[in-house]
Amino acid sequence: MMYERVLTGDRVTGKLHLGHYAGSLQTRVALQEQYETFVFLADIQALTTHFDRPQLLGQHLHEITLDYLSAGINPEKTTIFIQSMIPEIAELTLLFSMFVTVNSLRHNPTIKAESKNSSLDELYYGFLGYPVSQTADITFCKATIIPVGEDQLPHLELTRKIVRRFNELYSPILVEPKALISETPRLVGTDGNAKMSKSLGNAIELDSTKEEIIFKIRKATTDPARVHKNDPGHPDICPIFAYHGAFRSAGVTEIREGCERGTMGCSACKQLISTALDQLIEPMRELRSYYATKPKLVQEILISGTQHARSIAQETMAEVREAMSLNYF
Ligand code: ATP
Ligand code: MG
Repeated sequence: MMYERVLTGDRVTGKLHLGHYAGSLQTRVALQEQYETFVFLADIQALTTHFDRPQLLGQHLHEITLDYLSAGINPEKTTIFIQSMIPEIAELTLLFSMFVTVNSLRHNPTIKAESKNSSLDELYYGFLGYPVSQTADITFCKATIIPVGEDQLPHLELTRKIVRRFNELYSPILVEPKALISETPRLVGTDGNAKMSKSLGNAIELDSTKEEIIFKIRKATTDPARVHKNDPGHPDICPIFAYHGAFRSAGVTEIREGCERGTMGCSACKQLISTALDQLIEPMRELRSYYATKPKLVQEILISGTQHARSIAQETMAEVREAMSLNYF
């Protein structure tokens, strides 16, 4: 096993979907064979937008844990933990926040994009500080490989800056992480929105039944220029074509040609991708039903993962306190 740590989390805001799978989850499953891997349930970060609905967190937390396990995250190889149960992460967030300027947070493009409906006056302190708390998530275990979707790149850049600043100011004990972007850095939503997202209602969840997949794919947006079956299409603007590229290993060139020439109709193209997605999800269903009937086992996985993560966090916290001269006695 190579000695570098892999870490990523997911906001506990709803079930995971194909975007998570293609953008990050699949990579984590592959990396756990080679690296010490940490995956966490970001319940505190869920509160940055869901602070008025905390009672939903427990249910989402349970669903996402099943998503992890069914997608192939192996609890014997990967530490799965709950963010809010590691108080050292909160402590690190607070300490980092002392030397991060508000401007560097306000100009973060992801923060800007996700807060575009609210004016600056309505920007919440915790939401603005998201990248700072993310820095704490990453640095508590000195993770260096962060498999994330493209939307996380600005956050990761800031994390690297915060780490450098900490190391300059105090002592070089933290490690700069790197984003690991998959071949599908941002999966488009079924409505054609650039990002499939839990919060936008344009996602195909990893626990979908065959019927749900068929239904959502049938309703999905395609190239609006294709009114009749034989109209030539523009695959590069079609979500369905993006799914072919992301989830099918063969036959993608034929789809492109068929679409552009008007010989492959949208409904045949949709049937093909529905079948492929069902085949991708089928093995996940089996694992899901295995774990769904063992709530005690799932709970033990979370408790022991959290304990393990916490012991590492305590070691780092001791080093940080010493570096910052906060060890008074
Ligand atoms: P929310 O809308 O509630 O923020 P989300 O769908 O953006 O939810 P997150 O929990 O914020 O999900 O993100 C978890 C991880 O999944 C991140 O690394 C993110 O980049 C990645 N990810 C999420 N959606 C996509 C997508 N459509 N394509 C690729 N990666 C994605
Ligand atoms: Mg998000």
